[in-house]
Amino acid sequence: MDGLPHSFDLAPAGAPENGLLSQSYPPARQHTLRTAISCVGIGLHSGRKVSLSLLPAPAYSGIVLRRRDLGGVVIPARFDNVQDTRMCTALGLAGRPETLVGTVEHLMAALAGCGVSNAIVELDGPEVPVFDGSSANFIFLLDCAGVVEQDAPAPVIEVLRPVRIAQGASYVELRPNPRGLDMSVSIDFDAEAIGRQALTLRLGPAVFRRGLAAARTFTMASEIAALKAAGLARGGSLDNAVVVDGARVLNPTGLRMRDEFVRHKVLDAVGDLSLAGAALNARYVAHRPGHALNNRVLRALFADAANWRTVFPREGLEAWEEPASVDAVAA
Ligand SMILES: [Zn+2]
Repeated sequence: MDGLPHSFDLAPAGAPENGLLSQSYPPARQHTLRTAISCVGIGLHSGRKVSLSLLPAPAYSGIVLRRRDLGGVVIPARFDNVQDTRMCTALGLAGRPETLVGTVEHLMAALAGCGVSNAIVELDGPEVPVFDGSSANFIFLLDCAGVVEQDAPAPVIEVLRPVRIAQGASYVELRPNPRGLDMSVSIDFDAEAIGRQALTLRLGPAVFRRGLAAARTFTMASEIAALKAAGLARGGSLDNAVVVDGARVLNPTGLRMRDEFVRHKVLDAVGDLSLAGAALNARYVAHRPGHALNNRVLRALFADAANWRTVFPREGLEAWEEPASVDAVAA
């Protein structure tokens, strides 16, 4: 099985708590927020206070970012608008660096994990708030707003041929899989507190919520000084990242899960892969993945029309309805 040391079934044993958790994944219908919700938080890299609002959007809008501080510039949250993957996944319009929005991945993961297909993410700054470095706060916001089904079938992107990107000892691969999004991720760090960890799961709302959402981003103590010198991680602290020094976890409260590190890598991949613009029927297999490889594998997938097709698995529809234009959403 892909050379990974073990699998870990996160499927819940008990009954789901609400309708969204009980549905199969990918959802058969599109979903959006019941109502708008807002919050304020700090950007991890800029250290700036950012106000974030999540708003309902019509079917076929997708997830779109809107920079309120730039007169409402709209940036569709899609893989081809990813402009920077060095420290986080940053979205923006090509050739317009002032439109960049950094650290979108944990919010995108929460939206995908909750099955939200359409939403407007309004910001007044260049970065999504980091909160505790996980998706937990975004799940809380989505729970407060509520998620509702829309009168439109949800398209699924089905991977037809394996697509692989490798760099050094790292690789990510998308393989055909007719049954939703299966994910197998392994990591291997010199730091003894992390070491080698692996996780295999089938993505679904309950699995995301219970197994991935609370896993925090992490960094090495030795890298923090370099990041701050480079003007990054200005908002970074033990409140929004796990900090590792060799065999030690420096956060006073320790880890939330024994294998929190690999779970966060899967969480990141859920967010990055959601930039495909629809749920994936695929098997994602990755060793030491990162935002750059996740984006490159999506670009490679969509670079050849023979690699993928759009399906409506449980609706039996063959035609793709023309999506509403993003500009109409922004109006
Ligand atoms: Zn992350």
